[in-house]
Amino acid sequence: AKKNARQEAVYFTNAIGAHYENRLGLESSLRGALCRQELELYYQYQVRLDNGQIEGMEALLRWKHPELGFISPLDFIPIAEETGLIIPIGEWVLRSACEQQRIWKEQGYGDFRMSVNVSPYQFHDDQLADRFLEIIAETGIEPTQLVIEITESLAIHNVERVIVQLDKLRECGVQLAIDDFGSGYASLAYVKQLRPSILKIDRSFVCCIDDMDEDCRMAGAIVALGKALHIHVLAEGVETEAQLQFLKETGCDEIQGYYVNRPMPASEISQQLESAGN
Ligand code: C2E
Ligand code: CA
Ligand code: CA
Ligand code: CA
Repeated sequence: AKKNARQEAVYFTNAIGAHYENRLGLESSLRGALCRQELELYYQYQVRLDNGQIEGMEALLRWKHPELGFISPLDFIPIAEETGLIIPIGEWVLRSACEQQRIWKEQGYGDFRMSVNVSPYQFHDDQLADRFLEIIAETGIEPTQLVIEITESLAIHNVERVIVQLDKLRECGVQLAIDDFGSGYASLAYVKQLRPSILKIDRSFVCCIDDMDEDCRMAGAIVALGKALHIHVLAEGVETEAQLQFLKETGCDEIQGYYVNRPMPASEISQQLESAGN
């Protein structure tokens, strides 16, 4: 399945390459995608291991291209980052996710966190924290129910600047999760500097649990680290019952992955919440 995913990504990249004569074409198309409402958020559950409750929901961005179909965020986020489009796109993502969370809350389901991915490039904008707090206020989401997911690559340069903004958000109750934890170079330094409330074990340490090799010991070690530091640990990319059982035994707090659900449009999540509710 892994190989297929990679082949798919290559296919998409080629299809994008074949569709646009140059990067500018793709760029302007992405620019227009926002106002043409071609962007959509899918949602995936984050579930507690001890009682199966939905603790959180991660918003994952999709671009429904009129001719190419779905384009993966892995293919267009880098372009958004290079062109600065990540700023308006990132704000759209936050606003949409917060609005959806409010809708679910009004329907009586919204007692879970909402997680939004934030690109390191968004932190190049010194207004990020202020803009985010405005959007939080406008949409009426509880700041304590919002989680910002950032990957370890963030601290490559100018950590101090990032911390100033994170502190502003944290002061208002916004939570921070370190995404892909363990896959970067400075994991422990990051934990100390960024003081996250959640660590997300990188998928690469989860998918190999079935073989019981070193990678599964890494997952266990991250759980132990979380326990020692009183940080919640969430394992991502959980696909099998064996992975779930192993993580349960190590004391991991939460899981996310195809084993629980695939990322789905808000309407499908609503249907599931509704049928689970009665
Ligand atoms: P991520 O934040 O690490 O998100 C997890 C990715 O793993 C998602 O891919 C999700 O669909 C996929 N996934 C979830 N469960 C499983 C599983 O059990 N097995 C496997 N093989 N995969 C699983 P997706 O949605 O294609 O997103 C890819 C990446 O794009 C994300 O990785 C994130 O870094 C980025 N991304 C997505 N949405 C946004 C966004 O709104 N803003 C920014 N800046 N980046 C985003
Ligand atoms: Ca994420
Ligand atoms: Ca991740
Ligand atoms: Ca990732």
